[in-house]
Amino acid sequence: MKHADIAIVGGGVAGATAALYLGRLGLNVTLFEKGESLVSGPPFCHLHAGGNLYREISDAQCITLLQQSIDLLRFYPYAVDYRPTVIAVPTTDKENPADLYPRLQTLRGAYEALIKADPANEVLGSPDTYYRSYSRSEFDRLRTMAPVETPQTPDEWMIPVAREIDPEQIKFPMIMVQEYGLNLFRLGAGATLSIQQMENCTLNLDTTVVAAEATDNGKGYRITSERHGNQSVQTFDYLINAAGFRTGEIDDMLGFKRDRLVEFKAAYVTKWQEGTMWPEVIFHGERGTPEGMAQFTPYPCGLVQLHGMTNEITLFDDGLVGSTSQSAQPQLLPRFLEMIEQKWEWSCVEKRSRRAIEHMARFIPAFHTAQVASKPLYGAQQIPGEDPTLRAADVSFEGKRYARCEVVKASSVLSMTDAIVSGLIALDYVDKTAQGKRQFDSTSVPDESGLQAQALEIAKKRHYPACLSRRAVTEELL
Ligand SMILES: Cc1cc2nc3c(=O)[nH]c(=O)nc-3n(C[C@H](O)[C@H](O)[C@H](O)COP(=O)(O)OP(=O)(O)OC[C@H]3O[C@@H](n4cnc5c(N)ncnc54)[C@H](O)[C@@H]3O)c2cc1C
Repeated sequence: MKHADIAIVGGGVAGATAALYLGRLGLNVTLFEKGESLVSGPPFCHLHAGGNLYREISDAQCITLLQQSIDLLRFYPYAVDYRPTVIAVPTTDKENPADLYPRLQTLRGAYEALIKADPANEVLGSPDTYYRSYSRSEFDRLRTMAPVETPQTPDEWMIPVAREIDPEQIKFPMIMVQEYGLNLFRLGAGATLSIQQMENCTLNLDTTVVAAEATDNGKGYRITSERHGNQSVQTFDYLINAAGFRTGEIDDMLGFKRDRLVEFKAAYVTKWQEGTMWPEVIFHGERGTPEGMAQFTPYPCGLVQLHGMTNEITLFDDGLVGSTSQSAQPQLLPRFLEMIEQKWEWSCVEKRSRRAIEHMARFIPAFHTAQVASKPLYGAQQIPGEDPTLRAADVSFEGKRYARCEVVKASSVLSMTDAIVSGLIALDYVDKTAQGKRQFDSTSVPDESGLQAQALEIAKKRHYPACLSRRAVTEELL
């Protein structure tokens, strides 16, 4: 194989995964990340193993998300919080729980087919239990039961839900689906430790790419990076643009046109009752209206992350912007850039967090007592094209030596990297036997104590509560 030096700009989940994956294939990789740690851009908390949070997307996107989530889980098993998600349809909603069944059945069939193709894909439990419904009478039966310390069965997971949710606000049945949690601190920690171990990978944190241009022979890119005021220039054979919502800035440096949207969003970190283990709970609702979806994401130590898909909570007026014919980089308003680069006014954090608490308390009345625990998890994400509801996207290319990562959901990073590997095979940089060989290898999983220590350090460095760096349910508890 020919020798190749690969540059990756951006160390979010896309760039970090590309570095890890290509590094394991033996390529020479240099990763530039302007932040102090990897995976420190917009957050993620949910493994969309079926896209069941999004009623508005196509079945085809849901199946893609299912397949990609299984891949992600197999690549980063240590980042997954193995607890289910409960889906509730409020009485105020125009749709009914029964409307969800055709898609759930399709997803169950798709999951069965994936297991048939590769038995190691059975990471979400048996297809028979991919989803389960709870009628009002089952709900009432569970309401009288005491929560168990470590839930093992669907019924045990459902007990706190039945005890605390106001049944008059919900249409029955409720549905439990095997979509799990995804811990960004543990994913960032594991990727950092693994990348640092590889001699063929150079990790440049605190380093911003300030200029990029094609080399004169057209067979590579010259990259100028800056660290603490010092600039350096290096030449690479292949460039991976994984700059997240700033992907358009690198496109602009190179004169590439691309339509994309960028959206600023936030999820709020609250503290509620400690001691009871909850599943994730989703209350469906129409995005952008006062009834927008409410999402309850539990973490250890009584921490609960909240999304409320209204313009007063997770979404923001003027928070969605698009590229123009002059620039591939959508321009977020300065107030959002300030929030990303510097910080939020605490009064605004409190106001929006309290609204998120009240939005959730409509369904879980006791949640009124929840408190604001920290600054929100927030940021801007890119969506390629012009459709803001697109959820399954991965990568596009310019010529043979430039890949542009365009994941909307974290789970898409392995199909993204597969496509990049195909391009590298065509250039003779990688042997063709590497195609689709996902490098799932349990021996390359970092050891648990080092991983948790690193995850904790990242949480502290980013001023988030230590417990956010932990997960409630490991695979051993399944
Ligand atoms: C509130 C919110 C909740 C979300 N929840 C979920 C969820 O539950 N599940 C899910 O799958 N997805 C979720 N997402 C989407 C998810 O956050 C993104 O899809 C994902 O983080 C994108 O990863 P990325 O690596 O492409 O980009 P990023 O994470 O943005 O990484 C890009 C990196 O590039 C760096 N960079 C940019 N320019 C330069 C430069 N010139 N030089 C050096 N470095 C540079 C940045 O510092 C950044 O670290 C959520 C998004 C938001 C906003």
